[in-house]
Amino acid sequence: MSADCIFCKIVNGAVPSKKIYEDEDLIAFFDIKPMAKVHFLLVPKLHVETLKDCDSSHQALLGKMLLLAPTLAKEQGLAGFKTLINTGREGGQEVFHLHVHVFGGGNAST
Ligand code: 5GP
Ligand code: ZN
Repeated sequence: MSADCIFCKIVNGAVPSKKIYEDEDLIAFFDIKPMAKVHFLLVPKLHVETLKDCDSSHQALLGKMLLLAPTLAKEQGLAGFKTLINTGREGGQEVFHLHVHVFGGGNAST
């Protein structure tokens, strides 16, 4: 838990989100600025800043996040989808709490 982290605040309920999944390790919620018709984020409850900060102790968590993507995508009606992990400022990361983007269904604006 990091006091000024927006995703930690979503995890602990201090900031509202449109949640689609939650268990003891992870939550998933819709992105506030969707890049596609369906765009949600898979977020570990543990505050880890980036994929670069992960090590073998995070292996099961990372596997769980990826394995959840097709299940949740199917629930959202997606026959196929894209996944994205922006890593580091130079990698386009804006929120420094590890997350996997899952999106599909065409462009958000069409
Ligand atoms: P990044 O560039 O770090 O990979 O992506 C961060 C994502 O988090 C962006 O797509 C952004 O729209 C989303 N985001 C940032 N703040 C919030 C928020 O308060 N609520 C939700 N649902 N999404 C957020
Ligand atoms: Zn955090």
